[in-house]
Amino acid sequence: MISGKTRVCGLMGYPVAHSMSPFIQGKLAEAAGDDIAYVTFPVKPGSVGEAVRGAEALGICGMNVTVPHKKAVIPFLVSLDPGAEKVGAVNTLVPQENGGYKGYNTDVIGLRRAFGQYGIDTEGRDVMIIGAGGGARAAAFVCAEGKASHIYIMNRSVEKGVALAEDVNKSMEMSLCSGHALDDVSGLPGSGMIAVQATSVGLSPDIDSSPVEDEGILGRADTVFDLIYTPAETKFMRLAKERGAKAYNGLWMLVWQAVSAYELWTGHSVDEETARRVYDEVLLKINEN
Ligand code: NAP
Repeated sequence: MISGKTRVCGLMGYPVAHSMSPFIQGKLAEAAGDDIAYVTFPVKPGSVGEAVRGAEALGICGMNVTVPHKKAVIPFLVSLDPGAEKVGAVNTLVPQENGGYKGYNTDVIGLRRAFGQYGIDTEGRDVMIIGAGGGARAAAFVCAEGKASHIYIMNRSVEKGVALAEDVNKSMEMSLCSGHALDDVSGLPGSGMIAVQATSVGLSPDIDSSPVEDEGILGRADTVFDLIYTPAETKFMRLAKERGAKAYNGLWMLVWQAVSAYELWTGHSVDEETARRVYDEVLLKINEN
């Protein structure tokens, strides 16, 4: 029940109406007995600075940031968590005692935890990341910090993949990553790769699409992780499974990034059992829609 004491957290992005975050954060607050309401704020490109200042003035007690603001928000923050600084993108804002917000990247934390849960170990492995947007950026850093042997970033706009690869190499101070066209398999190892699908292709309702259908790519992966979680099994996952690969979706990543943000805002830690219950409830809700 909303009262005069209810504190407000939220999500800024454009668009935001489709987000599962209000549902997840609502469940986390309910489980902890916290009087917090989590709402979405559609913030148009170009208005992110005003939105951060407005959030501070209104006493918003925590904010998530999504497409297209994850990089654009950085100049308006008072400080950055070293993890977010390394990645160069922020998805969580935490109010600071002396004013302003500090930026964190819980997408990275969420993906790392999801990999751990599924036993996906990138150490010494060749990884291909399909996509070069915010999700791919988080994935590239998780794989780089997870000591992948080489990371091939395959993207429709080659220059964006090359730029992301350069950012990762610069930040990690090693030549670990390279950018390629989506259909350029010429430099890839023959087999045994981990593939991370980080484009929006295949996202509901576009469920009959996959960013790659080519055997030359799919046949190289024995493990695939799709950042998409609606539908629970994307066409990309289905095609990979048909070739004998293990395939996982992005729902645990979503839940863990939300849990990490919630913990940063409230100082409470969320136990595994609560996280699993929230995961089950989100899955049920996704399947209802
Ligand atoms: P983004 O920053 O907008 O990047 C979108 C990416 O998709 C770009 O690489 C883009 O390529 C590519 N793309 C879009 N349409 C394409 C098409 N028709 N063919 C080939 N490539 C195409 O988005 P994002 O934030 O990275 O999100 C990507 C996906 O990951 C979304 O489905 C999102 O829901 C999901 N995600 C999930 C989580 C989670 O917690 N599970 C977290 C973050 C993101 P160009 O560069 O060529 O435009």
